[in-house]
Amino acid sequence: MNKRSSVFSALTVDVEDYFHVAAFERTIAPADWDNMPARVQNNTRQLLDLFDTHQAKATFFMLGWVAERFPELVKDIHQRGHEVASHGYNHSKATSQSPAEFFQDVSRAKHLLEDITGSVVTGYRAPSFSIGKQNEWAFASLQQAGYQYSSSTYPVIHDLYGTPDWPQQPYLRKEGIWECPMPVLSMLGRQLPIAGGGYFRLLPYWLTRRLISRYLKQKNIPYMFYCHPWEIDPQQPRIAGAPLKSRFRHYVNLNRMETKIGCLLQDFNWRSVNEVYQPYFKR
Ligand SMILES: [Zn+2]
Repeated sequence: MNKRSSVFSALTVDVEDYFHVAAFERTIAPADWDNMPARVQNNTRQLLDLFDTHQAKATFFMLGWVAERFPELVKDIHQRGHEVASHGYNHSKATSQSPAEFFQDVSRAKHLLEDITGSVVTGYRAPSFSIGKQNEWAFASLQQAGYQYSSSTYPVIHDLYGTPDWPQQPYLRKEGIWECPMPVLSMLGRQLPIAGGGYFRLLPYWLTRRLISRYLKQKNIPYMFYCHPWEIDPQQPRIAGAPLKSRFRHYVNLNRMETKIGCLLQDFNWRSVNEVYQPYFKR
């Protein structure tokens, strides 16, 4: 296969359903989640098949709430050779929790996932990349809960997330936990987020490919991509009453996403976070 780079990049999926997202947190209360038609199983399995087609391996940051209801899905991900990691239990941002609540949330998700797979869970990603300068205490909680790495910071300026003045390379924190920030590219005096999300759905694929290629040439650190199962599901129920901006961000170009991810899998080499960052973790 003709790839654009011989290095391995980290492929990550935040496994949550369309009604868990931060964009709708003011519209749908957690108490209503069980009344919503779940689509996360089918969508995640569709991603698994797509990854198999391209011999790609990934890290699935599982929401505990999802894992509890669909343990077979977690087992399937594990058995198909992917890394099972944690996205916390309740999809609360780290910034909206006390240290005690946060510790409880990340511990609960970790134990749940380990009970299902019978394997140790080492990785964590905070909802909406919500760890930064204002809550660095979260790293100590993650270390206490037994995690080895986190991928919860995004060194960009964004209204929902981001800590622009933050390291861009993976590094070992004083709390004893590795942080693997989301990739950014410095261009036109700004730090461009190039890891996925709404930007990936908005930009034409050829431009994303060019930005990733440039990143891989310029930087001596791994590239990491993230997506969600709901992003490949244009048929998902529409959430009424959500703000226009949230709706735009959530629904834009969902119908093209699966094809775009296929192109990405074709053009680059993909492995789990644990595998791609292993040279760092060993230090
Ligand atoms: Zn999430």
